Amino acid sequence: MAFTLPESNIPLDIDFDPDYLRERFEADKQARLRKDTLDQFQNLDDVLEIADHDPFSEPITREPVTEELDVLVLGGGFGGLTAGAYLTMNGVTNFRIVEYGGDYGGTWYWNRYPGVQCDIESHIYMPLLEETGYVPSQRYADGSEIFEHAQRIGRHYDLYDKTYFQTRATHAQWDEAEQRWEVTTDRGDRFVTKFFMRCNGALTKPVLPKVPGIGDFEGKIFHSSRWDYDYTGGSAAGNMENLRDKRVAVVGTGATGIQMVPYVAEDAEHLVVVQRTPSVVQPRNNRKTDPAWAASLKPGWQYERHDNFNGIISGHEVEGNHVDDGWTHLFPELTGQHLVDTPVGELPAGDQAVVAEIADMKLLMGAHARVDSIVRDPAVAEGLKPWFGYMCKRPCFNDEYLDTFNRDNVTLAASPTGIDGITATGIVVDGVEHEVDCIIFATGFETGSGPAGIYGYDVIGRDGQSMQEYFSDGAKTFHGFFTHGFPNFVELGMTQTAYYVNFVYMLDRKARHSARIIKHLLDNDLGTFEPTLQAQTEWVRKVRESNEPRMAYWGACTPGYYNGQGDVSKAVFMDVYNSSEIDFWNMIEDWWHAGTFDGLIMEPSTTAVPVA
Ligand code: NAP
Repeated sequence: MAFTLPESNIPLDIDFDPDYLRERFEADKQARLRKDTLDQFQNLDDVLEIADHDPFSEPITREPVTEELDVLVLGGGFGGLTAGAYLTMNGVTNFRIVEYGGDYGGTWYWNRYPGVQCDIESHIYMPLLEETGYVPSQRYADGSEIFEHAQRIGRHYDLYDKTYFQTRATHAQWDEAEQRWEVTTDRGDRFVTKFFMRCNGALTKPVLPKVPGIGDFEGKIFHSSRWDYDYTGGSAAGNMENLRDKRVAVVGTGATGIQMVPYVAEDAEHLVVVQRTPSVVQPRNNRKTDPAWAASLKPGWQYERHDNFNGIISGHEVEGNHVDDGWTHLFPELTGQHLVDTPVGELPAGDQAVVAEIADMKLLMGAHARVDSIVRDPAVAEGLKPWFGYMCKRPCFNDEYLDTFNRDNVTLAASPTGIDGITATGIVVDGVEHEVDCIIFATGFETGSGPAGIYGYDVIGRDGQSMQEYFSDGAKTFHGFFTHGFPNFVELGMTQTAYYVNFVYMLDRKARHSARIIKHLLDNDLGTFEPTLQAQTEWVRKVRESNEPRMAYWGACTPGYYNGQGDVSKAVFMDVYNSSEIDFWNMIEDWWHAGTFDGLIMEPSTTAVPVA
């Protein structure tokens, strides 16, 4: 259709009506918005039949310990593992890792659902590949391979002897006189530690919707991150022979639901896919790693690959596209540069916004065309089409999901309000009861309740200051690592750090940087460090300012965990620094190499050095 940019009158070649899409997006959003936003979910422990237990390891028994440490690392996912690895590389040995799971891996320990893979290229996603001498077997490795890599890092850096598994922190308190943190656990442990690194993950506490009748169901219920292979049989590779005479409902069509649906459909007698909001599902093109390519890799290859990937998604000029995946094509397309000959940055401001909006819509129309090209029943195809800004929800990549809806044993049960209720024998969607034997909730993880809400413990800093309270109007850090009033505390999550796609790369860089700072403090017998209030305030301002455009974007979006289910003040990424990752890490390197530690106060030790 004929469309011209309003200010510059430049024509754009598009075959959709932006006004129609705007209206359609808004209507869809209104149909989905709920007043209870994040309160619509409940924890697994609130539904007694499926209490949040660990189906993957036998319970460990041990006596409580009391230990004096240089560093306590909370979390044994890739954040805690890379922290342990870089501390070790820096010669810091007096540390412990405390992990809730029965082994390392975090997300990859808990998420063992059939089909689990990472849709970020394994060669940039899995950390410390060169250091551990490993090359992933395929472009998108299976979850089991990623989990094994977590174990490999644990073995390579001798971390197992330093780790307490199946242990949760219950409290962390700064002792000003001793210049130490005291951290207690649910096993009665007491760690007295000079430095405390928190790497507890972002999406860790599984949730279910608060659905009427959920306690009445007489069949089997479980959450995707607590998969019950005793019930289904088989493994993450499929072949769930016990499902062959079962009618199964999968609730949720986010990245998890989309990966598992083809596998459950293959094995179940019948599958009902309960969809509240369809996801964008783009091609994935998985393939085995070419052994000749793996053999040709030169030292430094993984970091070069990271730089190339991050450069592309951050809009920098780079040579070539090493990863050449959906993400590296998506980010340049979102700029809309391919739609106009004039550099987008030289267009009038109003037109720049329109070009970005049209580029976003064009991507969505491409996703719709993909649905039509795969799904044979036009009504089902229509039901699988998302109607929202392309980046309102996480785009997914899968080559089997859409085709699953061509199977005779699969039903799409779609409603913008999700499940109406659960009965003793089934699940009710849009007024229709679907009788099932098993309900699998792929309904995601708790967000928006702050670190104490999600992790189950608060961090109490100087003068009894609760971090949960201090962060009640938003996180406060310097560079995303350190918080004023909480000396010697290091946050290794995404808070106020630049991060777009590759979460583990961000964890790796944060661990690398923190470990060298801790090494510097230990070597120089410095007792404490913390940011100045001024430096922290300036960083928080910068982060919030950087986020204004995307908060505006998400504010207009259909509800989801990206925008706090419609309450954008609880948006999961509201405290992520919206900047080029390349620029962010260059800034951190410059700051480190300047050697003046601007913004940090480092004080001499006033206590004896702890036992080594
Ligand atoms: P999620 O993205 O939060 O998706 C939850 C799903 O449950 C959504 O489809 C949601 O629908 C649906 N839902 C919630 N309440 C419902 C109700 N009452 N009735 C029906 N449906 C309901 O969770 P996830 O898919 O487990 O993903 C969690 C995180 O892991 C995400 O960050 C994801 O990107 C990540 N992940 C990544 C990969 C990877 O390959 N890298 C793989 C899996 C997961 P609405 O959309 O309407 O809210």
